[in-house]
Amino acid sequence: MADTNYDLVIIGAGPAGLTAGLYAARARMNVLLLEKSVPGGQILVTDWIENYPGFPEGISGYDLAEKMRIQAQDLGLKIETAQVHSLNLSADIKEIVLKDRSIRTKSLIIASGASPKKLGIGEDKYMGKGISFCATCDAPFFRDKIVVAVGGGDTAVQEAIFLTKFAKKVYLVHRRDELRAAKILQERAFANDKIEFIWDSVVTGVEGFFGIEGVLVKNIKTNEEKTIKADGCFIWVGILPNTEFVKGSVKTDEFGFILADAKMQTSVPGVYVAGDVRDTPLRQIATAVGDGAIAAVCAEHYIENL
Ligand SMILES: Cc1cc2nc3c(=O)[nH]c(=O)nc-3n(C[C@H](O)[C@H](O)[C@H](O)COP(=O)(O)OP(=O)(O)OC[C@H]3O[C@@H](n4cnc5c(N)ncnc54)[C@H](O)[C@@H]3O)c2cc1C
Repeated sequence: MADTNYDLVIIGAGPAGLTAGLYAARARMNVLLLEKSVPGGQILVTDWIENYPGFPEGISGYDLAEKMRIQAQDLGLKIETAQVHSLNLSADIKEIVLKDRSIRTKSLIIASGASPKKLGIGEDKYMGKGISFCATCDAPFFRDKIVVAVGGGDTAVQEAIFLTKFAKKVYLVHRRDELRAAKILQERAFANDKIEFIWDSVVTGVEGFFGIEGVLVKNIKTNEEKTIKADGCFIWVGILPNTEFVKGSVKTDEFGFILADAKMQTSVPGVYVAGDVRDTPLRQIATAVGDGAIAAVCAEHYIENL
C-alpha cells in the first residue's frame, strides 16, 4: 500500500540531503527525508573538519552533522528512519519502496552518498578485529600500537595524521610515489615523526588469528613482498556510490555514480541527485551542500510546472 503523496522525498541525511531538506522545508514543500541510519552521513565518521567555511577553528564531524540536522528540522523538515529498497520511476508519480510500505512523490532527490571501497583482503572477516575504515570510531583501540594506513588522498592522509594521536607508529602505504592529498595535509604528514611512508606499494593481505598481527605489503615496481608487524589496518582507497536501490532506473557512469545536468536532474524528469553519489569532480561537504540546494530548488520549480 502506498502512503501520502509527497511533493518531494529525499533519500539520505548526509550534508547533501539535509541541505536539500532545509531548502525544501523553507519553500513549504510537503517533503520527507528518509535515512536508513543516523542523520549526518560520512561526516559522522570525520574527526575534525577544517575546510568547511564558517568555522575558522574547525568543527568536529559530529557537531557539524548535529547543527545541520537541528537547523533543517527547526525549519520544518520531517526525517524518518527507513531504508529505501527500490524505486519505481516509470510514471509521473514516483514510487519509493521501503521494507513494509511504499511512498508516492512528485519529485525525488537521491542523496544516498558513498561507502568506502574494499581491498578484498578479508575486510568482512577482520572488521572489528583490526581492519577499519573509520579512524574517528576505532583509533582509540590502537593506543600505543602499530597500524598500517592505506591510500594517498585527502581522507587517507588526514586520517593517518589523526591516528598518530593514539598509535605509536603509522605506516602509510600508497601505490604511487607521491601523495594526491591537499598540500597542507602533505606538509603535516611529512613533518609527523610517527608516520613512515611505504611508496609504490599495495596491501595484499593481513595475517592473524584472533586479530591482525601482520599486514602483507607488495612493492609494485620491484614485486618484493614483506610483512609489516602491525595490530591494525585502516583502508581509505576510494569510495563506491550507494546505489543498490537505484538498479538501472537512472543513468550512471561506469562506476555507478549517477549522471546529472547542471540542475542536478538525472535522466528521469523530476528525479534529482546531490552529493557524493553524483558523478562529480569533487566529493566534499561544501560540494554536497551546494548540490543539495540546487536539487531542492529545481525540484520545487519542477512540481510548480507539473
Ligand atoms: C573519514 C572521512 C573524512 C572526511 N573528511 C572530510 C573533510 O574534512 N572535509 C570535507 O569537506 N569532506 C570530508 N569527507 C567527505 C564528506 O564526508 C562527504 O563528501 C560528504 O559527507 C558527502 O555527503 P552526502 O550527503 O553526499 O553523502 P553521505 O555523507 O554519504 O550521506 C549519505 C546518507 O545516505 C544514507 N543512505 C544511503 N543509502 C540509503 C538508503 N537506501 N535508504 C536510506 N538512506 C540511505 C546513508 O546512511 C547516509 O547517511 C570525509 C569523508 C570521510 C569518509
